[in-house]
Amino acid sequence: MRLRTFLSCLTGLTVLAVLPLAAQQNCTVQPDTQYTSQILKDTTLTEFDTSLTNHLNVSSCVEPPDKFLGHIVGAPNVLDKIEKIEAYMAQLASQSPRVKVYDIGKSEEGRETQLVVISSAETIANLGKYTGITAKLADPHGLSKEAAEALIAQGKPFYWALGSIHSPETGSPEMLMELAYRVATDPSPFYQNIRQHEIVMITPATQVDGRDREVELYNHHKAHPKEPQPGLIWWGHYVSHDDNRDGLTLSLRLSQIVMDTTMKWHPTVMHDLHESVPYIYVMSGTGPYNPWLDPIEINDWTQMAYYDVDHLNEQGVIGAWTHGFFDGWAPNYMLDAAWMHNIIGRFYETYSINGADSGLSKLSSGETSREWYRPSPPLPKVYWSARNNINLQESGVLYAMSNVATNHEHFLRDFYLMSLHSIDMAKTEGPAAYVFPANDPRPGLQARLLQTLQRQKVEISRATGAFTAKGEIPGDKAKEWHFPAGSYVVRLDQPYSREAAALLGQEYYSPKSPRNYDDTGWTMGALGNVETVQVTDPKVLQVPMTAVKGTVEAPGGARGAAHIFAIDANADPNIAMFRYALASTPMEVAEKSFEMAGRKFNAGTVIIRNSSASALNAAAETAGVRLLGLAAVPKVPMHPLLAPRIAIVHNWSNTTNDGWFRVSFDEMKLPYDYVALNKLGTIPDLRSKYDVILLPPNDRSLAGIVNGVSGKQPIPWQNTADMPNLAPPGLDSTPDIRGGLGLAGLQRLGEFVAQGGLLIAIGPDMAVAADTGMTPDVTLRQPRGLDAPGIVARAQITDLDSPIAYGYSPDLDIYYSAGPLISISSGGRGFEGFGGGGNQGRASGIGSVTSPDILQTRPSDSVLLTKSLGKLTLKEAEKQTPARRFDGGPAGPPPRVIVRLVKNPDDVLLSGLLTGAKEIANQPMVVQTRHGEGYIVLFATNPFRRNETGGEFALVLNAAMNYKNLNAGAKPKKTPVTDNPSGN
Ligand SMILES: [Zn+2]
Repeated sequence: MRLRTFLSCLTGLTVLAVLPLAAQQNCTVQPDTQYTSQILKDTTLTEFDTSLTNHLNVSSCVEPPDKFLGHIVGAPNVLDKIEKIEAYMAQLASQSPRVKVYDIGKSEEGRETQLVVISSAETIANLGKYTGITAKLADPHGLSKEAAEALIAQGKPFYWALGSIHSPETGSPEMLMELAYRVATDPSPFYQNIRQHEIVMITPATQVDGRDREVELYNHHKAHPKEPQPGLIWWGHYVSHDDNRDGLTLSLRLSQIVMDTTMKWHPTVMHDLHESVPYIYVMSGTGPYNPWLDPIEINDWTQMAYYDVDHLNEQGVIGAWTHGFFDGWAPNYMLDAAWMHNIIGRFYETYSINGADSGLSKLSSGETSREWYRPSPPLPKVYWSARNNINLQESGVLYAMSNVATNHEHFLRDFYLMSLHSIDMAKTEGPAAYVFPANDPRPGLQARLLQTLQRQKVEISRATGAFTAKGEIPGDKAKEWHFPAGSYVVRLDQPYSREAAALLGQEYYSPKSPRNYDDTGWTMGALGNVETVQVTDPKVLQVPMTAVKGTVEAPGGARGAAHIFAIDANADPNIAMFRYALASTPMEVAEKSFEMAGRKFNAGTVIIRNSSASALNAAAETAGVRLLGLAAVPKVPMHPLLAPRIAIVHNWSNTTNDGWFRVSFDEMKLPYDYVALNKLGTIPDLRSKYDVILLPPNDRSLAGIVNGVSGKQPIPWQNTADMPNLAPPGLDSTPDIRGGLGLAGLQRLGEFVAQGGLLIAIGPDMAVAADTGMTPDVTLRQPRGLDAPGIVARAQITDLDSPIAYGYSPDLDIYYSAGPLISISSGGRGFEGFGGGGNQGRASGIGSVTSPDILQTRPSDSVLLTKSLGKLTLKEAEKQTPARRFDGGPAGPPPRVIVRLVKNPDDVLLSGLLTGAKEIANQPMVVQTRHGEGYIVLFATNPFRRNETGGEFALVLNAAMNYKNLNAGAKPKKTPVTDNPSGN
């Protein structure tokens, strides 16, 4: 029916068109009846299609997608691997002078990331002219308004569509092939306008590694529908869904590739294509918007969103909407590459059931309600197809491209204005600069943060002399600073000042604002344990300085000719890099601070005797640590500093969190084994294999950790002939992903620690130790009345003598996100009543909150205690009580609290959203307990959050390198610590 109507329409039209360019003089196009009829067949309602996508023309010169792929784009039950998609794009380029393709960089697993550029043949032949214009507009230093207007008149905006960063969202890489074909070949005025006034950029898949794994799994399942099928376990090489949460540190290859490409082309718009929300959500967001954004950026989001939705609605599309999803606050998405670089960054969420499947779509009332921002909502129930998804995505993107082509001068002008506002920041809204003092005690972490800024293309300068300026570390009081020569200066009169200011500043998210979508605080100096001094007076820009060329490196090497060398402890993770680089060289650590040669060395200072000075120097230069020659070995207690064998544990359902641990470890070149939770129970002697076992936040509940994935028959995750990419080197494979840690695994972990291993458990995974009896004095509780979604919190090192704290100053800012809290008691575990109420203060009963309860039919507790003592005093009774025993091992020393949040609830928040601060003030965040011969260290924070928390890395690495001597510096055993869980 639909088909006949459409084709009868066509017959009356002149559809043969001669393309205008010499290169395509002999090319003709005519309706592709076969392709068109297939589109109409695969579309389930005309309301899910538009006049842009309900047909295709065939060119006599350029092959449409179906001839190359063997199926139309959006055909049911078929997905294409990345090589095939990129090969089709390359063929387009070989057949059309309007198309060029580039390899813009290799992924972690070595796959090409492709950039397809499409415009008129004339423009494509002169691309350098247009990138030259956008480069000038991108840095308008010294560019007059008139000169800028002349460039805007000659220039063309670049619109970059980026497919599938989230690999299970499979439609966009297919869609972009058809879109590329249309833009390259369609002779209608709509496409002529796009080719004449705009340059289209396409990256078919942003996450190329995950694309292949997803397609292999999908196609395998189609061929073997009865086999049990795992979900996509590793999307990219590291962090699954979080590959779109790398905007702050650009630690993943795909982020670096996008950022580098951005600098070469200076696109005007970047458009990320996602699939999760029905049917087509066009991003503008609810706000609160990121406070560093140029208002022009936000205006353009809104203008463009309404343009796209309006054009879809005009075509009768239902379920196209904007506004009510995502906030626009955190700059941690891939969109940050656009936002903070004066580019319009936007995204779509469109809808698919599963890959290229069709089926009945049933939506919740929340998804189908009529709202002011969704006057034509999606349907509660409808038969949905992969082609519907293609139609809506492709039409939306084409309308958006048409909008930018039509208003090309407006969008280029906005790009120029945002760039101009960025270089004006220093003298208008400020601050003028951030200064990184040359005498920061942690030059390794300082270099690390400066490298992050460099990856973001922020220019760094270096003061050639000493200078003074009034300034403040965000969140602290302003004071007069004396900066030594060599201090780094991040000038905020540069094109990417917004990026620097957003990373280094302090942010406040009001509880009255709409619900946050992701982390709410991220102050990078604080998370990195680096001094970043914000200076407001623009005079700082006149300080003599030179631009830093090349990557900032931490200073390293050995100074002084000696047989004994020292590395002063400074909580810099570079020390661990150095330790592992010389894994077989004996090293010791001073348990106390000492003075020598007129200099004070911190507790934790590394001492190396009688080693080759040249070998030490080479390793110290590479790792970025400074070795100082000593005349003698200091007379303080010492123990060995070890390079232990570390296991990082993952589960088989979500690899995002452990992925970030791997990102940081790999970046620091720290060796580790990557071990599955369900394998731990099968390793008979864990202790002989590992010294340290690291449990990243794998799962939210102990039950989830213990039970893992369920299923009736084995679910393999391993390479096969038709799935050769499931487990490349560095990832894991197994004949069966079912099961979790299990009771056997729990027992083996207990034995591992009892035999002298170190278990480090993070966040919800603390339950593996704390809820299973391995830490009798430490329990967990869920915070109540607390809202702290991904914040930067102020903490203090409360046990500076602990090896875990070596090199730290008393103040430390940490990442916290409302996870379980640690309660410490002296009398073993109390009864945890309904709702996890153990240690929550008194129970409901008689009296007031401070008076003792009266239990019916029995005397009071104190009367019963006195009676039981007989003639003994309480003190005498305590003395003759044997140490409590656990699992046959002797009870250890009381738990040691290494880090606590600050006492005053009003001081806890540095950045983000926090309500209920009383609940977490003064709460232990890092606690060490003894179990048998070994130790357990619990983290209520996440010390490896998205490679952003460099300041916390050393807490974990110190624990690991000192794992045999974590009792060093412990206070003599007195009354055990009792913690008031209410925090007051
Ligand atoms: Zn997504």
